[in-house]
Amino acid sequence: MMEKVLQVKNLKVAYGPIKALKGIDLEVRQGETVAIIGANGAGKSTLLKTISGLLKPAEGTIEFRGQPLTSMAPHHIVSKGLIHVPEGRAVLGRMTVEDNLLMGAYCRKDEKEIQEDLEKVLALFPILKERFKFQAGNLSGGQQQMLAIGRGMMARPQIMMLDEPSLGLAPIVIKEIFEIIKNLRDKGITVLLVEQNAKQALKVADRGYVLETGRVVLSDSGANLLRSEEVTRAYLGER
Ligand code: ATP
Repeated sequence: MMEKVLQVKNLKVAYGPIKALKGIDLEVRQGETVAIIGANGAGKSTLLKTISGLLKPAEGTIEFRGQPLTSMAPHHIVSKGLIHVPEGRAVLGRMTVEDNLLMGAYCRKDEKEIQEDLEKVLALFPILKERFKFQAGNLSGGQQQMLAIGRGMMARPQIMMLDEPSLGLAPIVIKEIFEIIKNLRDKGITVLLVEQNAKQALKVADRGYVLETGRVVLSDSGANLLRSEEVTRAYLGER
């Protein structure tokens, strides 16, 4: 068994009176792609934001390679290599593609390796090379998502957390994004993927967790969840 990168235990998070997470347990091991699926409002984004330190849990623990993260500031969590690619991508529209990518490496000082990683990211996303000096705001939705993923890679992530990378994209572009996620896995990058697009997510995932109103109701290998009657009925119906 590979080393545990992330371990979440009994995680509870509330927005005032609204209990968004009601005791979540999950783990991610080195090199795995783990998918969190569930309907709108299940608590998927809340989970990622809490791991990133943007929200403070009411209860429970989060450990990164055996070290507690729960009371750490977000910038400190980023510097440990937990990289969050947020829903809506959050590229800086008035900055160039180049600057957005370099922003991903802001915690690093190894100039030569940063340049090498930039070359690798541009090889993976040729369109970003073409648009290197363009303002990021002028890219299409799919290209902005690639930029957000590329920016995450520039941080040399220990674990990459992707929040709904397929949201709002055309079907053909969604296919491309999932190819990229498969590619991250092949490169040995550990990925925690949040998706409403359950079928595609489970296809690329080693394991998955199904979230319903703040609780994990099922967890299994991606392949078994894809075959499971419960998942099929609730999430794969029309997709
Ligand atoms: P989505 O796909 O819509 O992002 P999700 O599974 O990521 O869904 P969350 O966004 O984590 O779900 O929301 C979980 C619950 O917390 C929902 O009931 C939501 O209404 C509530 N919630 C989320 N953000 C806030 C907030 N800032 N203030 C109050 N309630 C919130």
